[in-house]
Amino acid sequence: MADETHSRELFAIINDVKEHLTYLEELGVEGIDPSAPVSKWHVDEGVETLEDVWSETRDCTRCPLFEGRTHVVNSEGNRHAKLMFVGEAPGADEDVQARPFVGRAGKLLTQIMESIGFKREDVFIGNVNRCRPPQNRTPTTDEGVTCRPFIIREIEIVRPKVIVVLGNVAMKNLLNTKEGITKLRGKFQDYRGIKVMPTFHPAYLLRDPSKKRETWEDMKTVRDYLNSDAVNQ
Ligand code: SF4
Repeated sequence: MADETHSRELFAIINDVKEHLTYLEELGVEGIDPSAPVSKWHVDEGVETLEDVWSETRDCTRCPLFEGRTHVVNSEGNRHAKLMFVGEAPGADEDVQARPFVGRAGKLLTQIMESIGFKREDVFIGNVNRCRPPQNRTPTTDEGVTCRPFIIREIEIVRPKVIVVLGNVAMKNLLNTKEGITKLRGKFQDYRGIKVMPTFHPAYLLRDPSKKRETWEDMKTVRDYLNSDAVNQ
């Protein structure tokens, strides 16, 4: 038991160091390669689990967003999912229900995944920030960077084949890019060896339904990749 506790602590430290190295790399410090995957020994040995991650978010006060939340909204879904969706932060419905993507945007997200043959229970869904920002404002960069280690740890545990990142804010945070969603959507990016498809956030599609066609094209690209030999051999 003590060994397991120490392993968890060690893994948390490794992740903190990786996050700090990534931050230094963003500042332009050279000679650092934080892009290599975290060793999977902790996952294979059953040391790091989703419950471990969630036990740390339960009472989290790492960033100011904790002050306005009703609930922390952790990710949910199939722990062995091939497909993962990552959004920006919970809204009002999610804050009340403690579940990601359950409001109007969530219903549209369900339709989007169903359009390529997936049900909610097939996929894993979460947000970079897991406490609702006041008046649904955009999370600040600091708030995003502070909460990001939780979604990164979930990604390392689930190891999906494709992550669909929803909207500009989540994309910039996850991919450490200054490019905008309009430029990168529809083109696979890489996140530590996992394909990432940036596309529009469903809340944006509710405001501008004319963008649904581009999202549909992005999702077809995801579907074709998940059905390809590269994933299924
Ligand atoms: S948004 Fe994330 S880092 Fe901030 S308080 Fe909530 S769980 Fe903690």
